[in-house]
This record gives sequence, C-alpha cells and structure tokens, in this order.
Amino acid sequence: MSTGSPVGSHRVVNPAGALPQAAERLDPDPEIADDEVRIAIERLNLDAASFRQLRTAHGGDGAAVRAEVLDIVQRRGKMHNPVTGSGGMLIGTVDAVGPRSPLGLKVGQKVATLVSLTLTPLRITDGLAAWDGASEQVPAEGHAILFGRSIAAVLPADLPEPVALAVLDVCGAPALVRRVVARRPHAATTVAVLGAAGKSGSLSLAAARDAHAATVLAVVRTEDEAARLRGTGLADRITVADATDPLGLAEAVTAALDGRGADVTVVCVDVPGCEHGAILATATGGTVVFFSMATSFPAAALGAEGLAADVEMLIGNGYVPGHADYALHLVDSHPALAELFTTRVGEPEEAR
Ligand code: NAP
Repeated sequence: MSTGSPVGSHRVVNPAGALPQAAERLDPDPEIADDEVRIAIERLNLDAASFRQLRTAHGGDGAAVRAEVLDIVQRRGKMHNPVTGSGGMLIGTVDAVGPRSPLGLKVGQKVATLVSLTLTPLRITDGLAAWDGASEQVPAEGHAILFGRSIAAVLPADLPEPVALAVLDVCGAPALVRRVVARRPHAATTVAVLGAAGKSGSLSLAAARDAHAATVLAVVRTEDEAARLRGTGLADRITVADATDPLGLAEAVTAALDGRGADVTVVCVDVPGCEHGAILATATGGTVVFFSMATSFPAAALGAEGLAADVEMLIGNGYVPGHADYALHLVDSHPALAELFTTRVGEPEEAR
C-alpha cells in the first residue's frame, strides 16, 4: 500500500502540480493509499447551481442530463461541472480504511462527505440507472475516495437520508452566517437572506435568528415561496423580489427594513447575476456573504467599486469548524426547517 499525499495530489492526472479541486482529471482507482478511505457510494447530491445549469442546458430532458453527468464523471474522474465549476457531495458506506487514515472512520459506517465532489475521486458503475435526471439527488453505485485531509460526517440516525444529505450539502452557510452576525459591533443587526426558501437560505434564516439578529428578512422570488415561510417563525419579515433585478431588489429590501439597507446580506440564490442587487441592498459598512456558487468575483468586486459601496464581501467557504453538527442542530430545533427540507427533497424540480 502506497503513502498518499494528505491533500490528494497523488490522484491528479493533469495538469501536473495542481491540487484535486483545480485538476482537469483525477484518478479514481479503487485501490487506496494508506491514509485514504474508500466509500461505496449510494447517493450524490448535485450542487443546486450545477443541477440548474444542466437542467436548463438540456431543456429539462432527464435522460440528457443523466448522460452528461455520466460523461463528466467518466472524463474527469470526479463530478465537477465545467460550466458552473461546482460539484456537490455524497453519501455512502465506508468500504475500506487505510491504516494511516486520520479521519477516524470505520468500515460499515454510513457517512456524508463534507468535501466537494469537485475534488473527490469518483467512479460510477451502474450507469445511474436508478436516476431520472429530474432531481438534485442521484441514486448511484460505485466508489469515491477520501484523502487524509478530507472531512466526512457519520449520518444521524434520526433523519431520513435524503434530508440529511440536503442539510449537510449546505451546512457551511448557517455556520458562517452565525459567525458574521455574532461579530457585528452593535445589537440591532438586520439580516436579509436572498433565496430564503431554499436549503441554504432557510438554514441561514435560522442561524441569523440564533445569533440574535434584531430583524431577519426573507427575500423570496415568488408568493408561493413566501407562503411556505409564513408562519414558520424563521423570518420576522418576508418580501418578494427577483434577486437578479438590482434596483427592484434594493428597493424591496430597504422598504422591508424601514428605509435602510441590510447590515448583513446573504446570497443563497442558485442563479447568476445577484451580485449588484446584493451590494445595493446592503447598508454602508455592512457585509455581503456570497454563498452562491453562481457568484462572479469580477461582477462583485467591480460592481461594488462602481457603486462606491463600502461593504465587506465574503466568499462562502463551505467549511467552518463544527458546521455539520450546527446545521443538524438547527434542523433538530426548528420543526419548520425539517418540514421545508422534507418538502424540497421530496418534490420534483418542476413543481417548485
Ligand atoms: P436551493 O435550495 O435551490 O435554493 C435556491 C433558492 O433561490 C430557491 O428558493 C430559488 O427559488 C431561489 N431563486 C432562484 N432564482 C431566484 C431569483 N432570481 N430571485 C430570488 N430567488 C431566486 O439552493 P441551495 O442548495 O440552497 O444552494 C444555493 C446556492 O449555494 C447555490 O448557488 C449553490 O451552488 C450554493 N452552494 C454553495 C456552497 C458553498 O460551499 N459555498 C455549498 C453548497 C451550495 P426557486 O426554487 O423558485 O427557483
């Protein structure tokens, strides 16, 4: 058994010298190095931005979406959408553990990987036969590899697996929101969450409340989504606006927050083009958290400069220590969150 690099560079086929996330292609050989773990996969959770892009590109044709996912994994040795640059994560059963693996996993444990599919060596062996290409969650057979420096969470016994998978996919968002809101210098912090009825959005609402935000504003695209949130107690106020319409969004947020921008704006929308609206909707000295993978760095940086907006902008790093436990704790303590997630993972995309 060979010794791997803890960051997985020994699995990079090309380009030489890249780390796995930036690599064009990884080697998903099932034989593990002595610090690796092999997972027998059961279900992939495609990142929302990636799935939306694939579905849109193929006009909702599930068979074509499935064929493209298979093609990407075959070509790249990982599920790394070349258009959105995003991946997702997976659940499966620990199948083999190298003697020097520091992850503390045991053969037979059911786990969710908490590192992106964009850097996880992956081989699919069932042709995704059990997937209709119409939902983010993909039943799949095959294997995935975790490196020495990876993260995985043992699945909770008390949540249905598809719900746990969906929660853990976006668990970086609530942990980051809690941190950002908690460090604000004054108590009367207002938080606006864009895409608030979605998975990361609803968890972010709960985290903002947990961090004692004074006002939590949910921004959703449709009346239908507003109705889903009403009465859940997750938001103090709800407003309907298109996050890709900068002027309309800023107007809706300031109207809902008594004439001021938000102190913290969290972008949890899964479509491109939300940078300028989020910046305009944020008060001077405030913070924009770009959790969305559809965020453009030039659009955000140049947009803020062009608007002379003195706002801090954070990229939503998917990792914050304790993020998985925190997200699961929020779902456990807010029945409305569990209900939103259950509805979301049980629904075909077209119904939303
Ligand atoms: P999700 O559950 O699909 O939620 C996205 C929400 O945005 C949905 O409620 C959607 O409404 C709404 N939306 C779409 N277009 C909108 C618009 N123009 N205006 C207002 N709202 C709009 O997605 P998610 O899983 O929470 O993921 C959200 C984002 O986070 C994605 O970009 C995903 O790639 C990213 N992500 C980041 C990380 C990280 O580590 N930073 C990790 C995982 C995911 P409809 O349902 O009506 O379309």
